[in-house]
Amino acid sequence: MELSDKGKPLTDILQNIEGFIGYSENNFPKLHKGKSRSLILTELEDRLKIDLDYSSGKVLGAMTTPPHDFARYIYSKFIDRNLGDRGLNPGTAAIEKEVIEMLGNLLGDPYVDGNITSGGTEANIIAMLLAKQNNLDIKEPSIVIPDSAHYSFDKAAILMGLKVKRAKLLSNYHLDFDHYESLIDDNTIALVGILGTSALGLIDPIEKIGKLAGKYNKYFHVDAAFGGLVVPFMEELGYDFPPYNLKVPEICSYTVDPHKMGMSVNPSGSLLVKDSNVNSFKFEIPYLAGGAFPSYNILGTRPGASAISFWGLMQFMGKQGFVENVRHSLENTYYLKDQIEEIPELKIATEPTMNVLGIQMSSKANMSLDRFNSLLRQKGWALGVFKQWNLLRVVLMPHIKKSHLAEFLKDVKAIF
Ligand SMILES: *Cc1c(COP(=O)(O)O)cnc(C)c1O
Repeated sequence: MELSDKGKPLTDILQNIEGFIGYSENNFPKLHKGKSRSLILTELEDRLKIDLDYSSGKVLGAMTTPPHDFARYIYSKFIDRNLGDRGLNPGTAAIEKEVIEMLGNLLGDPYVDGNITSGGTEANIIAMLLAKQNNLDIKEPSIVIPDSAHYSFDKAAILMGLKVKRAKLLSNYHLDFDHYESLIDDNTIALVGILGTSALGLIDPIEKIGKLAGKYNKYFHVDAAFGGLVVPFMEELGYDFPPYNLKVPEICSYTVDPHKMGMSVNPSGSLLVKDSNVNSFKFEIPYLAGGAFPSYNILGTRPGASAISFWGLMQFMGKQGFVENVRHSLENTYYLKDQIEEIPELKIATEPTMNVLGIQMSSKANMSLDRFNSLLRQKGWALGVFKQWNLLRVVLMPHIKKSHLAEFLKDVKAIF
């Protein structure tokens, strides 16, 4: 989809995509078993060919990757398990609890409470709800977030009527900490810090924000949707980080997504809650067939298979498996960075912290970022676009190979 397509009906946009073979009948089919399974599958495969394929290496700008084969297998085997009615699925509920504790263990505190969620968005929304429920006396609640925070905090704000105060970034795209502190006031219900920003994979000063949370007595949420399953493995590889995990004493809740660098199946996020710091607020539904089991989740019926497949995948891959994935992704990140720095028309936005790289036009380029991106799109490359910072995002997910990057660089060089 091109930026100029904004506002057009989806049918018009799809019509222009090469290979689009149209809609079939959109009436609800009348006949039971009207078409054979194989005919339907062939039609689906044909129609879905225009979806981008990870194995092509062209999906360079997404934080998603094909789920591990074993996670897919487990997911389909237990696809009927519903964690929305946990009393009916006590086995699944126990596995969910273990997944939360294993994640807690990886991140410095095995005694956390929490739930598997549909992703980072749901987890962040629940965290803001917890902050709100912990501050019911504040009538005009606001949250302080870095300008680099994910859109899910705006969603939470729209849903709950919160005012969003955005702290500026410095010229290297790291948080302007003094500005952040200046935004805190009596109406602040939550401070947010990020472990792996959406645009550049950068890390906020979690310990320093924790100190602010202590000083002003505020709820502190960390969004580690991406970095939560990268940074602990980078530590295993010998990288050093300032304190970032649940050991930071002021942290109340922590978002981590198994469906990003956790290699698990969509939808799989999680919210870890340090209930010693939080007056817990959970939803409790009394009429369920399995009985009332309070949970943090916004979703009702939700896939138990998300918890089960990540449980199985952790057993199968072990820490070492995740460490190897991260090593591969980092090698590609540094390779691409070095190569981009050789091209006079381009520059990197800032030194990468993890496997996310921002690419910008240098002063030598006589082309806009928009134009550069649309030329890349014409060749099939899908990068993330962050207009407010004039950068294209590449996320070096595990499906990207060095050979893909070599092809990408060839196409890039042909543009200039
Ligand atoms: C991906 C991401 C989210 C949103 O997660 P979804 O799983 O897409 O809902 C939120 N915050 C950060 C930092 C992320 O990387």
